[in-house]
Amino acid sequence: MPRAHAAAAKASRSDAQDTVAHDHVAHGQPVANGLAGAMPFPTTRADALNQLNAFLPRAGRAYAARRNFDEGPGGQGRTAVSELSPAIRRRLVTEEEAARAAAAAHGPEAAEKFIQEICWRSYWRGWLEARPAVWQRYCSDVERLEQQLALNSGLAKAYADAVSGRTGIDCFDFWIGELAETGYLHNHARMSFASIWIFTLRLPWQLGAAHFFRHLLDACPASNTLGWRWVAGLQTVGKTYLASAETIRRTSGGRFTVSTPLATSAHTLPAEPTVHPTALAALPDAEPDARTGLWLHSEDLSPETMAWPAAISAITAVDAIGGDPADGKRAAANTALADGVARAEAHWHCPAARLPEADMEGAMLDWARNNDLRQIMTPYAPVGPVADRVAAVGVWLGRKGIALVQQRRDWDSAAWPHATRGFFQFKGHIPELLA
Ligand SMILES: Cc1cc2nc3c(=O)[nH]c(=O)nc-3n(C[C@H](O)[C@H](O)[C@H](O)COP(=O)(O)OP(=O)(O)OC[C@H]3O[C@@H](n4cnc5c(N)ncnc54)[C@H](O)[C@@H]3O)c2cc1C
Repeated sequence: MPRAHAAAAKASRSDAQDTVAHDHVAHGQPVANGLAGAMPFPTTRADALNQLNAFLPRAGRAYAARRNFDEGPGGQGRTAVSELSPAIRRRLVTEEEAARAAAAAHGPEAAEKFIQEICWRSYWRGWLEARPAVWQRYCSDVERLEQQLALNSGLAKAYADAVSGRTGIDCFDFWIGELAETGYLHNHARMSFASIWIFTLRLPWQLGAAHFFRHLLDACPASNTLGWRWVAGLQTVGKTYLASAETIRRTSGGRFTVSTPLATSAHTLPAEPTVHPTALAALPDAEPDARTGLWLHSEDLSPETMAWPAAISAITAVDAIGGDPADGKRAAANTALADGVARAEAHWHCPAARLPEADMEGAMLDWARNNDLRQIMTPYAPVGPVADRVAAVGVWLGRKGIALVQQRRDWDSAAWPHATRGFFQFKGHIPELLA
């Protein structure tokens, strides 16, 4: 897919989105995802809200009818889905804002499907939050399998063919390129990609999930890991997603022929030990009168929309997103972070210090001492690499007499405790969440 083509296609979707694409250029934003020319995915809150508003007319029954249809990045671009996930993932716009906007535009019934899809993200995050061991096992599996790539030439060749788009399966080889160039794939493409990876190419699901995580602009420990586990039949035990050529042809509007045979049955993967959910931990309260700093990170970049229990006197941010991100993903995350920092500076009327990722603990301590801070508040980081860094920094600061206090959004606190069983049970609570 030519880069300029994808960008041009996106920019031509609607007048409103023309303005959004034009704004990126007009504001002189860096090209964050490696595409030449206009940037297709919003990396600022203003652009994310513009994109949400432009999509809202299509978030009702039209979304329910067409959301599984992947028009692809060419032609007129995608109109059936919002392509908001990179923005929602970093909370340039929140799940709550997107769900409420859709409900307000169409009423909760007509917008039900769109709201439910947004809530899948809340569900996955709550599910993993209660079972961090599932994430830890995935991380150690990836480490082990990456070592095997160096030792097992058959595995290494099959993996190299897959990630360089040389499998001969036309849709798969296209999606590999689309993922690398844009950092995005439609949900149906992700499902089919994962299914082909696991059941046709017979590659370990964890390596596919790690490849997605490196490239996706919306890469989310919960939605990605659990999405792959769901396809593999590990999430709902025994229930796999088997891609078929006919479904891929239909949902892609005939863009692919899929003439290379795909697996016609799904082999059973080794069962993983059951992990029982733990209750959501209560967070320590912030001291309302202590001199307080705000630490912004890429898990939640709309701090001005949160309620903070203490006045904020200083702001800092660290360019850390964890893992081994592709250049486009890192650049998009950094642009989003810069936007969050700029809004926080304007909101609290104080300049922000950008700290280096290397020696984050030491730099954070110096910053806290220079600003005479007794505590640092930060948006809650759910299970994943950023949460690991936040926890490590918290322990370090605590030893030096400075409290690090995480602040969870009400939406998460209300949603996550319901994510103990399946999504069917969870979705019964959506009206309460929106109430
Ligand atoms: C194997 C696999 C890996 C995935 N990895 C990720 C990931 O790393 N990050 C991520 O945000 N989503 C992931 N998803 C879910 C889904 O594919 C994307 O959220 C969706 O394609 C984003 O496109 P959109 O914004 O146009 O979605 P829309 O259809 O417009 O949906 C609106 C919003 O709802 C949320 N959403 C929609 N579908 C899902 C879903 N199935 N699960 C969770 N949230 C959903 C997203 O925040 C999305 O922006 C994955 C799915 C699979 C099958």
